[in-house]
Amino acid sequence: VRKNPAEPEFHQAVREVFFSIIPLLKKNPIYLEEKLLERIVEPERQIVFRVPWVDDKGEIHVNRGFRIEFNSALGPYKGGLRFHPSVNFGVIKFLGFEQIFKNSLTDLPIGGAKGGADFDPKGKSDKEIMLFCQSFMTELYRHLGENTDVPAGDIGVGSREIGYLFGQYKRITNKFEAGVITGKGLRYGGSAVRTEATGYGLVFFVDEMLKTINETFEGKTCVVSGSGNVAIYTVEKIHQLGGKVIAVSDSDGYIYDKEGIDLDLLKQLKEVERRRVKDYIPYHKHAIYKPNGNIWEIPCDIALPCATQNELDENDAEMLVKNGVIAIAEGANMPCTPAAIRVFEKAKVLFGPGKAANGGGVATSALEMEQNAGKTRWDFEYTENKLKKIMQGIFRRCSQAAIEYGFPNNYIVGANIEGFKKVADAMIEQGIV
Ligand code: NDP
Repeated sequence: VRKNPAEPEFHQAVREVFFSIIPLLKKNPIYLEEKLLERIVEPERQIVFRVPWVDDKGEIHVNRGFRIEFNSALGPYKGGLRFHPSVNFGVIKFLGFEQIFKNSLTDLPIGGAKGGADFDPKGKSDKEIMLFCQSFMTELYRHLGENTDVPAGDIGVGSREIGYLFGQYKRITNKFEAGVITGKGLRYGGSAVRTEATGYGLVFFVDEMLKTINETFEGKTCVVSGSGNVAIYTVEKIHQLGGKVIAVSDSDGYIYDKEGIDLDLLKQLKEVERRRVKDYIPYHKHAIYKPNGNIWEIPCDIALPCATQNELDENDAEMLVKNGVIAIAEGANMPCTPAAIRVFEKAKVLFGPGKAANGGGVATSALEMEQNAGKTRWDFEYTENKLKKIMQGIFRRCSQAAIEYGFPNNYIVGANIEGFKKVADAMIEQGIV
């Protein structure tokens, strides 16, 4: 805290990891002797830069760009870019720190990183978005490379932005280096299932949790917060597995449709027309829109926060438990506050932490890198199957580590121990660097 003032999200993420690896540290004092905790919280490199751009009216704007290259013990730096006005050091550092362990848990050769800018894409024209992305990449490109640092999307960065970023990288370097960024369009090196991966992966993870109590998604009522990339494909997979999502949201409010969210309409509104969830109502008059509404007040069996950090607090958790929720899993990064997590633990409901449950996105990004390196392309079914196996592997590893260290069914402890152990061991083997 003294070294990194005014970074509350980063402190929160570090506290959670360090607290849950205490059983590991007790068994293995070498991690303390080797000063692994001090080393792992210090990013290997932090890049901050000016991003100037000109809007459609000719006015000049300046944003701040970030790339935190946190840890490369297991592979090239890997993690998304977030464009949102709330972006600052603490936010990018918490995301980068989480990413180290998430990537380790996938068992794929990727290090941890995160980046972005305090730029607000909302209400900007296509041309403004393009000019911003070009300016951003004009600085960032010198730090990237398919074996060095490979960004992807996150909040506010979808396939349109990845396209503009890749186009500018190619132009500056005069190289078609497909493996330098993931989440690309299918026409130029993107992978099947990357768009769907985080949401689908989340649902596969929850399905594994449900199996431990002899349950499935069939007939379950679900609430999914957010209505972006992760939320949309979470809804899609739940519907495919026989569950029903009755509510989604954006930062203005939520929509409740007791007959189940009309996914085609949601995709059209959000992905094609870039509109708000309230625009759903004229098409389905029976649905309800609640401006500034709290989505967690809606009774459900399964709750999946897929919007942003700290969106579900202690009171929300108590409401969900009171309403009979049986499982919660984090599609977003750190959406549940520590106090909310304590409520779920006390109530003994299933809980899937983000670094395990939402790892399907980055895992499929690693599959995209693998296809790019091999100059090959896998079909949808094959790639989805790989994703499913990866999520089952993540679940198994968390579950086994939780048992081994005396906290059966505590997937937070399992994920943190398993994720930390692999990175820490690799760091020890690579010496004091
Ligand atoms: P998108 O930009 O596609 O969607 C974000 C959604 O969350 C929007 O509905 C947005 O509403 C809402 N939201 C964002 N910020 C806030 C806020 N401060 N308050 C309330 N609602 C908010 O992002 P993604 O779906 O890609 O990401 C969602 C979460 O999932 C993030 O936490 C991200 O880090 C995490 N994640 C994403 C992965 C990916 O592959 N994309 C991989 C792993 C995790 P509005 O339009 O009103 O802002």
